[in-house]
Amino acid sequence: MSDRRRLGVLGWPVAHSRSPAIQNAALAAAGLHDWRYQLLPVPPELFDEVVPALGGAGFAGANVTIPHKQAALALASEASPRARAIGAANTLTFGPGGDIAADNTDAPALIAALPFPIAGRTAMVLGAGGSARAVVWALLDAGATEVRIWNRTARRARDLATELGASAVDQAARADLLVNCTAVGLDGSDPFDRLPVAPADLTDYACVVDLVYTVNGTVLVDRAREQGVPAVDGLELLIGQGALSFEIFTGVPASLEAMRAAASPAS
Ligand code: NAP
Repeated sequence: MSDRRRLGVLGWPVAHSRSPAIQNAALAAAGLHDWRYQLLPVPPELFDEVVPALGGAGFAGANVTIPHKQAALALASEASPRARAIGAANTLTFGPGGDIAADNTDAPALIAALPFPIAGRTAMVLGAGGSARAVVWALLDAGATEVRIWNRTARRARDLATELGASAVDQAARADLLVNCTAVGLDGSDPFDRLPVAPADLTDYACVVDLVYTVNGTVLVDRAREQGVPAVDGLELLIGQGALSFEIFTGVPASLEAMRAAASPAS
């Protein structure tokens, strides 16, 4: 086994990240007691200088979050086809010779978290930023027949739809799946004044996914579940992508139970 046993999450700012708690719990559950996972706060202007040094400093890998996902792909010496197609990486691994491999586990984590196969079904995506890009690509790659995109800034929805083969819409349409990829709800506020759906509309969908996560959950997920609509919250997606990254870093599967327990508000 490699002597590189350090891991971390690269972001700016990143102090709020739940990843160290979640990943250290998975390391302990896997018996990897001499591994450590830490915050790696790196400002954008230092990213290209700092990241190539991490392998030599004992890091086996790093997760990547806002605002570095595109820069992470750009500096990698090799990248998975899905990271290339999405244009962003959330997982970097550092090889012995200074090589850096990039992957994107956000996309497979979304598909794995859905309560039904998306192949042959339709989706309504809210947002056109970095996470929407990964979500739209993942849904189409998994066989969704129609993916519609709504965004506050309509031009960005049109650009993303054109690039990935989805369609842009100016109001939310009924679909099998609703995915919120906007930042709305991050502050714990009621999201319905800024999204093109009302609480009663949530029953138009067979599942609601909210990428946003807060310590106490989100209003969107609460309103969906209150009406009996299955919902996937952002914390479950964070755990899913983290578990896939953990396996890439360490070569062993992650305990989802340990990760969920560490992610809960009480932990
Ligand atoms: P981003 O690239 O900055 O995109 C932000 C999106 O939110 C844009 O579509 C933007 O619309 C929209 N938005 C922001 N404020 C809005 C408002 N007041 N009203 C309507 N729309 C608004 O961010 P991102 O990387 O896609 O991330 C979006 C959210 O997903 C964040 O909360 C992030 O924490 C979360 N996320 C979670 C996970 C996970 O694992 N659970 C993974 C990735 C991201 P405009 O284009 O009009 O500005």
